[in-house]
Amino acid sequence: MNILILGSGGRESAFAWKVAQSAHCDKLFIAPGNAGTTQYGTNVNIKVTDFEGIKALVLKEDINLVLVGPEEPLVKGVHDFFLADEQLKNIPVVGPQQEGAQLEGSKDFSKQFMERHNIPTAAYRTFTKDTLQDGLTYLATAGLPVVLKADGLAAGKGVLICLTLEEAQTELTAMLADAKFGEASSRVVVEQFLTGIELSVFVMTDGNSYKILPEAKDYKRIGEGDTGLNTGGMGSISPVPFADAAYMKKVEERVIIPTIEGLKKDGIPYKGFIFIGLMNSNGEPWVIEYNCRMGDPETESVMRRIDSDFVDLLLGVAEGNLNEKEIIISPKTAATVVMVAGGYPGEYLKNKVITGTENVRDSIVFHAGTSMDGNDVITTGGRVLAITTVQDDMFSALQQATADASRIYYDGMYFRKDIGFDLL
Ligand code: AMP
Repeated sequence: MNILILGSGGRESAFAWKVAQSAHCDKLFIAPGNAGTTQYGTNVNIKVTDFEGIKALVLKEDINLVLVGPEEPLVKGVHDFFLADEQLKNIPVVGPQQEGAQLEGSKDFSKQFMERHNIPTAAYRTFTKDTLQDGLTYLATAGLPVVLKADGLAAGKGVLICLTLEEAQTELTAMLADAKFGEASSRVVVEQFLTGIELSVFVMTDGNSYKILPEAKDYKRIGEGDTGLNTGGMGSISPVPFADAAYMKKVEERVIIPTIEGLKKDGIPYKGFIFIGLMNSNGEPWVIEYNCRMGDPETESVMRRIDSDFVDLLLGVAEGNLNEKEIIISPKTAATVVMVAGGYPGEYLKNKVITGTENVRDSIVFHAGTSMDGNDVITTGGRVLAITTVQDDMFSALQQATADASRIYYDGMYFRKDIGFDLL
C-alpha cells in the first residue's frame, strides 16, 4: 500500500523510518518532510493544513492510508475533510476527527471530559473576559503556585505557572482582557499546581479497543539540570523506571480505560493516538493534559522500542480490528538527545551547514528542522536533529546517544548532556 505521513519534525522522521520497514508499505510520501525523511520516502512540499493540496496528492499517488503527525491539521479537521469528500471518504486517516481532537484543542473541553468520567486531574475553574472579575477573586483563594492555561492551541506557550498572586492576576488579565495568546486565550483554565515527576503515556485506539505503546519521559527545559526556558523538548527516554507494571496498571485502570470508555459514552469517534501527559505524585497518576497525537521527542524513542510491524497496528486502527493485532515491545532502553540551533528557544541561528552525521556509530539521526541546500544539509528550525539509540541498559543508552550527538557539528549547535541521568 501507499502511505502518506503529514508533518516535518523528528516525530515524523521516526514514523517514516518505522513505516518504511513495514511489509505493507510500497511507496511512502511525507508532506512536507525534511532533509532526512528522503531516506525513507518521497517528500512532497505541501503544508499540513493545505487540505486541497493533500487531496490532490492522495488522488495522484493513489494513497491508501494517511498518518497525521502534528495536532494542527487534526484540530482544523483534516480527518473530517476526508470523510466529507466523495473521493477521499474511504481512505483511512489515523488521527481523530475535530471533535476528538478537542481533547487537545481545548483545555476546558478536556477538563470537562475528565471531570465527567472521573479521571484524576487537578481541580480547576474556567474563566472568560466576562467573568474576569470572578477569576481574579478566585485566584485570591486558590493556593500558590497556580497554573493558567490558554484554552486553545498556543504553540506550546499557553501555560503559565505563577508563583505569586500578583503575577497570576496580571497574567489572567493579560490573557482574557488583552488577548495575550489571541483567540486561544479567550478562555482560560485556572488549575491547581501538581507536584511530582511527569510521564508521557501513549495509547493507540480504533475507538473500541486500545494498545498501550511504550511510555517515555521527556525533558522540556533548555538547560542541564532542568533549568532555563521551556522548549519543544530536548530529549526523551523509554522505558521509565518508576512506570513499572504496578504503576502502569493504575494508569490503565484509572486513566486509559475511563478515557476510551468516556469517548464511547460521549459518542466521540476516535481513531488515532492519545498522548496522556501525567504527573506522578507519590505513586499516583494525575492527568495534566491530553494530546491528540504522538509527542516529540518521545516518538523517536517509542518507535525504536516497537518490534512489531507498525503499519499493521495502523491498519488495526483504521479498520477497527486493533484488538486482533499484536504489539511487540522491546525490553531495551531507547534514548533520544535533541540537538538544537544556537539561541533556541529564543531567536535562533539558521542555515548552518551540518557535518559529521556519517561519524555517528550506534544511533539513528532523525532529522527535524533541516533542509537541503545544494548538496549540504542545513539547519532551518530550532530543534534540528534527534539522535536516538537503543541499548541493553539505560546507562549505555544515555552514554551512546550523548556520544553520538557530539560527533555532529554545526555553528551554534547545542544539546543537553544530562538527558535521563536523573533516572539512573
Ligand atoms: P500542558 O500544555 O497542559 O501540558 O502544560 C505544559 C506544562 O506545564 C506541562 O508539561 C507541565 O510541566 C506544566 N503543567 C501543566 N499543568 C500543570 C499542573 N497542574 N501542575 C504542575 N505543572 C503543570
